[in-house]
Amino acid sequence: MVYREQQRMCPLCMAPMSASVLSVSDERVDIDLCDGCGGAYFDFYDGAPGHLARIVGGRSERADSAASHNHGAIGLCPVCEVVLSPHSDLEGVYRCDQCFGVFATPDGLRVLAETFIASPPPEKSLLKEFSDWLVDHLWERK
Ligand SMILES: [Zn+2]
Ligand SMILES: [Zn+2]
Repeated sequence: MVYREQQRMCPLCMAPMSASVLSVSDERVDIDLCDGCGGAYFDFYDGAPGHLARIVGGRSERADSAASHNHGAIGLCPVCEVVLSPHSDLEGVYRCDQCFGVFATPDGLRVLAETFIASPPPEKSLLKEFSDWLVDHLWERK
């Protein structure tokens, strides 16, 4: 697996992102945080729970016209440098169709946190940790 060979750049503001890892038992999510705009990029390749991926990036339809003109400024996937696709339901959330990574703008993180809070995960899991992390992250940024 090719991993962390170079600094990842924020697709929104092009600033370098700092890496952190969230893990519970054998599940993990790599998170890149942008100090410039407050966006975050999530990797889903290592034992990623399907429900998390489904919530965050389950829709694979291509951007419709509304989504694409609302978010014309988004850049490329920090990992594979292909164009990110806007999520059809979650504003500010983008997915890479190649690596299935997900980028969320600060607004997108808020939308994700609200989504998680509205439907709490059933058990202690990575998803729970992830939603806690999102809430902490948002508070920290306010
Ligand atoms: Zn940024
Ligand atoms: Zn990618």
